[in-house]
Amino acid sequence: MIINENLTDLVKTCAYNLGFDVVRITSAEPFLRERSVAEKRIQQGFMDGLPWYTQSRVRRGTDPNVLLPGAKSIISVGLSYLSESFQQPKNGTKIARYAWGKDYHKVIKNKLKGLVSDVEERLAHTVNARWYVDDGPMLDRAVAQRSGIGWFGKNTNILTSSHGSWVFLGQLITDLDLDIDPPLKKDCGTCTLCIEACPTDAIVSPYVLDNQRCISHLTIENRGSISVPMRSLIGEWAFGCDICQEVCPVNLKAMTTNEESFQLNEFDGFDLEKLLEIDEEEFRTLFAGSSLRRAKLTGLKRNLCVVLGNLGDEDSVPVLNRALNDNEALVRSHAAWALGRIGGSIAWQALEAAVGIEQDQEVKKEILTALVMDTI
Ligand code: SF4
Ligand code: SF4
Repeated sequence: MIINENLTDLVKTCAYNLGFDVVRITSAEPFLRERSVAEKRIQQGFMDGLPWYTQSRVRRGTDPNVLLPGAKSIISVGLSYLSESFQQPKNGTKIARYAWGKDYHKVIKNKLKGLVSDVEERLAHTVNARWYVDDGPMLDRAVAQRSGIGWFGKNTNILTSSHGSWVFLGQLITDLDLDIDPPLKKDCGTCTLCIEACPTDAIVSPYVLDNQRCISHLTIENRGSISVPMRSLIGEWAFGCDICQEVCPVNLKAMTTNEESFQLNEFDGFDLEKLLEIDEEEFRTLFAGSSLRRAKLTGLKRNLCVVLGNLGDEDSVPVLNRALNDNEALVRSHAAWALGRIGGSIAWQALEAAVGIEQDQEVKKEILTALVMDTI
């Protein structure tokens, strides 16, 4: 018992020394309740648009012993990304806070790998371990909840007492025999601020999110068209959405991050409109090591067209006009919608000119619709 206690302390000390803000331990028992909830969400269609999120993935991801045979514990970590120097880009476009620093996958994986090496060095033997940072089958929020990193908010985020919901989560499954932490006895009480603030009504009931309505999904993982009713609701969000976190009272007293990689603000003052005119090579160079690459260049251009349409500034008409010639039909169709929404004689002329030369029938339909649209 004493040995286990010492080992648990050693693991936690090593993790805190590496910079993690919250560190807790849970067992490697299967997550049966979370499995049945996740399976139900799939059946209800709330995970549509994520073809890789299947029943079999959920079954694997809720049984740590399938992911690491012989697993005994999961080290659950949280790392804040709330930066004091955070600035939104120019022109009123908005980017979710988590995307402004370096891509968190690499940062957290390096720390988790470092944790394994440090513990191995102290124990003088190898540790069997497997790590996840939001990119494997493991249900990261289920681990965070059971280990006591935080509790589920009604917006489905994990809320930590010290850093609010502005945290990245990581998990290290190990064969170490560690002492288990209990879940926190906290909840949202009667608060419903996030549900009321969500512009797309994506939080269909407390703790239930319809992915197909969530701006975060629509602007990041979604590879196709954004449905017309959703476009105006997206507002200024060009990548992700922070509204349900910004209104959360738990986040009012959240501590900021000490992690240097998340304090960078590489795109401070960057004019996102420029994205509409760059090619893949420039995109790769400009956004190397950034989470924004998850949306791909075509997805970001699509989102920007929607945002520029919503901002309604006639100064955006020339760049949207040029986007009507983009190689990707997805970009051309959303540029047409934006021009229709902004309106005015120059936008109208651009659409008229494009309708005569557009070969893609879907884009042509969008241009024709844009020509008769009500402006904002
Ligand atoms: Fe709604 Fe935005 Fe929160 Fe999604 S991220 S649930 S769209 S407020
Ligand atoms: Fe919970 Fe209120 Fe925060 Fe929503 S806004 S997650 S209901 S505390």
